[in-house]
Amino acid sequence: MEFRDLKRQYKALQKDIDKVMSSVAANGTYIGGETVAELERQLAEYVGVKHCVTCANGTDALTIALKVWGVGKGDAVFVPDFTFFASAEVIAAEGATPVFVDVEAETFTISCKDLERKVEAVAKEGELRPVAVIPVDLFGLPANYGEIKPIAEKYGLYVLEDGAQGFGGMIDGKKACSFGGISTTSFFPAKPLGCYGDGGAIFTDNDEWAKMAKSIKVHGKGANKYDNVRIGLNSRLDTLQAAILQVKFRAFVDYELEAVNNHAKMYSKLINCPNLATTPYIPSGWHSSWAQYTIRLKNREERDGLQAHLKANGIPSMVYYPTAMHAQTAFSGCRNYGDCPVTERLCDTVLSLPMHPYLTEDEIVMVTKKADEYLSGIR
Ligand SMILES: *Cc1c(COP(=O)(O)O)cnc(C)c1O
Repeated sequence: MEFRDLKRQYKALQKDIDKVMSSVAANGTYIGGETVAELERQLAEYVGVKHCVTCANGTDALTIALKVWGVGKGDAVFVPDFTFFASAEVIAAEGATPVFVDVEAETFTISCKDLERKVEAVAKEGELRPVAVIPVDLFGLPANYGEIKPIAEKYGLYVLEDGAQGFGGMIDGKKACSFGGISTTSFFPAKPLGCYGDGGAIFTDNDEWAKMAKSIKVHGKGANKYDNVRIGLNSRLDTLQAAILQVKFRAFVDYELEAVNNHAKMYSKLINCPNLATTPYIPSGWHSSWAQYTIRLKNREERDGLQAHLKANGIPSMVYYPTAMHAQTAFSGCRNYGDCPVTERLCDTVLSLPMHPYLTEDEIVMVTKKADEYLSGIR
């Protein structure tokens, strides 16, 4: 069994993918071009925003957003303590200071109470200027934007939605990657919508920011790429990736999103009935795109034991994430504006199970059966 079986997806889409790949090869345009422009229009329409600007990866997408806003030295940017490293890395890379905020145990997304506490702590200390918050749509579930936005308005913070794992998620019909002043996503192969290499995109309704993003991603171009008006990046999406994404996007919308939601329902039913572990909580009105299906165990011993037992039975599982951002060596010099106890507990107790649209019911039954075998045995 594979954790995220991308080969099965390729098998299902092979005819179309092979066709577009050879068509790009024959066409001679390998970076940008009409295929990329068309994909950008399709994604913007799906998400429900005015502009989609593709780029080389999800990390660059976050970086471009911070550059658009001129975030840098002396600025505090609030980011969940429980996320993938890139969400916080980009802040430090721009010379700004990441301030780590705890998350909600049930949804894994940023705690609004702790966000306000940390903003107040930074303001009170008076050394850094609070400028932005990067809520992360973790494991496919959009963060709580209904509560984040009033806090951002109160303190004058930009909202940068890190939707690298969130694409396809929704709150009350409003799609992920439409919640930030700027929102970003990643097309890394294992993300909800992935390509066959690296890719990313930023989304915004703001004309000026979209224009700046387009400049920044091509060496800070002005009228053309040999007229350079600011320091930028080399961060474009390959035509080949855009063509592959168009095929995969169709499958994503047509049936993949529904498939992962059905799988999640089945997992939760089989895990909740004998009460094996705490299953993911999706608040009413929320929809997840199930980048991960993540359960919580009682403690670290139980989690590690379960993972070892699954592995012994040929079932891969992952710990997303084993280390809190504040505990990362690379951030050891960062000031602490308050502890993140929920994150620390999650790092010890979470386990992500195999999840992708092409999982079979038999496989889900097998994973939960093996989990039951182990957990019933030790309790
Ligand atoms: C994957 C990921 C990123 C970075 O995306 P890349 O395309 O790998 O650069 C950023 N944030 C989160 C939450 C991610 O999961």
